[in-house]
Amino acid sequence: MKLFLVLLIPFVIRWAVRSYQTGRVMPVLYLSKKHQDFLARNFTYYQKLSPESRKRFEQRVASFMGSKKFIPRQMNHVTWEMKVLISASAIQLTFGFPKLELSYFRNILVFPQSFFSRANQQYHKGEVNPRMKAIVLSWKDFVDGYLKTDGRNLGLHEMAHALRLENKIKNREYNFLNGRLLQEWEEHARRTMEEINAGTEVFFRSYGGVNNEEFFAVAVENFFERPLEFLERHPLTYQTLCKLLNQNTALIEKA
Ligand SMILES: [Zn+2]
Repeated sequence: MKLFLVLLIPFVIRWAVRSYQTGRVMPVLYLSKKHQDFLARNFTYYQKLSPESRKRFEQRVASFMGSKKFIPRQMNHVTWEMKVLISASAIQLTFGFPKLELSYFRNILVFPQSFFSRANQQYHKGEVNPRMKAIVLSWKDFVDGYLKTDGRNLGLHEMAHALRLENKIKNREYNFLNGRLLQEWEEHARRTMEEINAGTEVFFRSYGGVNNEEFFAVAVENFFERPLEFLERHPLTYQTLCKLLNQNTALIEKA
């Protein structure tokens, strides 16, 4: 038996090296002290969690970070600070689920600032690209999103798009959003989008009126950045989103 295990070692090493070289990554179960301290200094959502929840958050961030290939675009490399914060953004959104890593989206592309998209000949701050299995972010705009609590947050916005797509893609993370709640959500969304487009809605920005997906992403930004105002102005929509994401950000805010 021992000999068998010893014989396995070269194969395990080769697998690990190949995984590293190809960007296919290995599960990481804990976050280093340096990364924890960085989160504690820079990530408000994490700062407000209980000590037990912080531990769980750290494990989720480590696991997410280890499962993605971070690809620099128009810059030399993606720093560890970028990786930690981008991963934290994804876990912030999915923290209500026991384990959800948006597994279809294996690639995280990071640009220093907004980038030109050939698809529609415009500059983008971020996008989700299912063909490339990628979440694409402008770092400058990602950071700006977390510096202000104005209901605009690029990271959460793009993660929200990825979440809805992940839910529809038939893989191991398929169909995790409750169908009845999604229907309830679509009903709130339809009504609120009508109000946005009629100019009578003032809380959600007008971009939320473009389509269902954009409304969801804009609502998510507000759910995390301005939960108390969201609850006050749209209590039913807020509560449906709470149930859908299995977390209550207004409670975290008040704590
Ligand atoms: Zn969008």
